[in-house]
Amino acid sequence: MKYVDEFRDGKLAHSLAGAIAREARADRRYSFMEFCGGHTHAIARYGVTDLLPGNVRMIHGPGCPVCVLPVGRVDMAIEIARRPGVILATYGDTMRVPASGRLSLLKAKAQGADIRMVYSTQDAVRLAEEHPDQTVVMFAIGFETTTPPTAVAIKEAEAKGLTNFLVFCNHVLTPSAISHILESPEVRELGTVPIDGFVGPAHVSTIIGSRPYEFFAEEYQKPVVIAGFEPLDVMQAVLMLVRQVNEGRCEVENEFTRAVNRDGNLKAQALVAEVFELRRAFEWRGLGEVPYSALGLKETYARFDAERHFGLEHRTVADHKACECGAILRGLKQPIDCKIFGTACTPENPLGSCMVSSEGACAAHYTYGRFRTAARPAAAGAAS
Ligand code: SF4
Repeated sequence: MKYVDEFRDGKLAHSLAGAIAREARADRRYSFMEFCGGHTHAIARYGVTDLLPGNVRMIHGPGCPVCVLPVGRVDMAIEIARRPGVILATYGDTMRVPASGRLSLLKAKAQGADIRMVYSTQDAVRLAEEHPDQTVVMFAIGFETTTPPTAVAIKEAEAKGLTNFLVFCNHVLTPSAISHILESPEVRELGTVPIDGFVGPAHVSTIIGSRPYEFFAEEYQKPVVIAGFEPLDVMQAVLMLVRQVNEGRCEVENEFTRAVNRDGNLKAQALVAEVFELRRAFEWRGLGEVPYSALGLKETYARFDAERHFGLEHRTVADHKACECGAILRGLKQPIDCKIFGTACTPENPLGSCMVSSEGACAAHYTYGRFRTAARPAAAGAAS
């Protein structure tokens, strides 16, 4: 398949691994955070870490949309779904994200709440058209990639004059999360998460472009290489990061030139700017309250806002007490550090959000068995 097979070529992978091994200096360690869950998935699935030299480590970041949903927001979604006359429309992955009291959307559905799995925001608009006597609420989650389709759905509902379509908005922003990680005490003061550079998001960058990363490459002196989600994309990005570190450069480079440019998708950005505005703060699972890291609906579109409509307020709720998702999402621990990984917590019975989606670090490690060969020593708290 064009643009897939050639990025999974084993011979090329070994040749790239050789180049990384030659360029990585023996007298230093390299720790790179892959922000996106898509990269975490590719790294686990294709065994990328096994091809890297021992002094080059990958640290999982918080870029899995399902993983960063805090318990309190899932509780709110369940609260909405239980209201009389409401249909909650949601993407499949969110159905199993743990909420309070061992609940999830899936369990709330089994208890009688009308929760429907949809493949797109258009499906949710269609549901609203088909059920004029009920209120359809789209549980909108995700980073910059999934925000434009939510804006499209709101505009479409407006154009169709639908008064029974609402959005429970949980869209979050990548650059603020990366800045927050770089500002964290673990990175800045304690050095327990030694980040030398970032593998930058693929799909997110098709929307926002490479320009937004220039600020923190400069400000925090960390190189960024935007990479696609195939294994050779990741390995090429690692090679480019090693070169930047060796040469003392802190630049934004783009490995994913087949889809990303500096400016991104201007039409999508304009649509998002028309419908959404920045929230002052938003809670992320694992990162806590992150300033200006999420979007809410603008006053002009307030009539589509489920939070305002139902008068909901977010409450912070603690994760399961044995769960290490917070530390994993901050790059402090790896899945096998969790005492219940693969025993009480599995993809069939997730107790933490990182075990739910295939992009979650725990699910990726469990599914592809990377933990079974976890013989490599961890680099100062870095995940593999
Ligand atoms: S194994 Fe489960 S409980 Fe443990 S950190 Fe991962 S998701 Fe959380």
